[in-house]
Amino acid sequence: DPNIRLHLRLVPYSDHRWLLVARDVTKLLQLERVRRDFVANVSHELRTPLTVVHGYLDMMEPEDFPGTGPMLEEMRKQSQRMTQLVEDLLTLSRLEAQSPGELDSVPMAPVLATLQREAQALSQGRHQISVIDDPSVDLRGSVRELHSAFSNLVSNAVRYTPDGGSIQIRLQRQGEAAVLSVRDSGYGIAAQHIPRLTERFYRVSSSRSRESGGTGLGLSIVKHILGLHNARLVIHSEVGNGSEFACHFDASHVTVRNDTDALPLE
Ligand code: ADP
Repeated sequence: DPNIRLHLRLVPYSDHRWLLVARDVTKLLQLERVRRDFVANVSHELRTPLTVVHGYLDMMEPEDFPGTGPMLEEMRKQSQRMTQLVEDLLTLSRLEAQSPGELDSVPMAPVLATLQREAQALSQGRHQISVIDDPSVDLRGSVRELHSAFSNLVSNAVRYTPDGGSIQIRLQRQGEAAVLSVRDSGYGIAAQHIPRLTERFYRVSSSRSRESGGTGLGLSIVKHILGLHNARLVIHSEVGNGSEFACHFDASHVTVRNDTDALPLE
């Protein structure tokens, strides 16, 4: 039956013997699709009403409604948050349904420059921000998605680092592979939380996350985008000392330029 999906696993049984374990995951996958479609549909339906609420709130001036200034401000903030949440849920649904796409060449110098500008805009001079490029390496994949993943890491670094801290964005070649890492000197994360950070809505401290304007979906989006690019997210962190989020790309998604290639042949 072409509609039945099986998960096959080889398990060592005894010396020279193996067991082939087959699990019928058809129902599980169907349920997963229903969940995905439901989230996507609800998010989509919420978009229009939210745009209307947001639009009217923007038109309301505190002078026209004396005494409502702080309330209007809070309503704007919350409707902004809800809009971001809906956008993140839609992004996640799109990524979940997507298979790896075309491998476009992604020149990294402009991506790094944009990330630096974004970090500076978010930080408003409260952090020291540095970027280290490796001009011998570029990535391959979707520029829009890769930028969105890195941008999430950079915005987390700014949001979870107290004023006066530092943030470093670095692209590094490792043989035929490459690593893009975002390191901060911020609050850090206790070891027991690290394996769960990429789960949807998982937060170490929901109050700090909400205060910082997060939706709890950022790292989940990062993980999905990296998955579509054959890449892994490696997290190192220490409470009080900061964190490093490193995206490891293998040779299939990296273009290495050897300097000698650029020399004229004589
Ligand atoms: P959020 O929108 O809550 O930031 P994310 O999925 O981006 O959601 O991150 C999940 C949680 O991981 C955050 O709530 C925060 O607790 C923790 N986190 C992420 N990045 C960092 C960082 N650079 N430093 C400290 N904690 C972080």
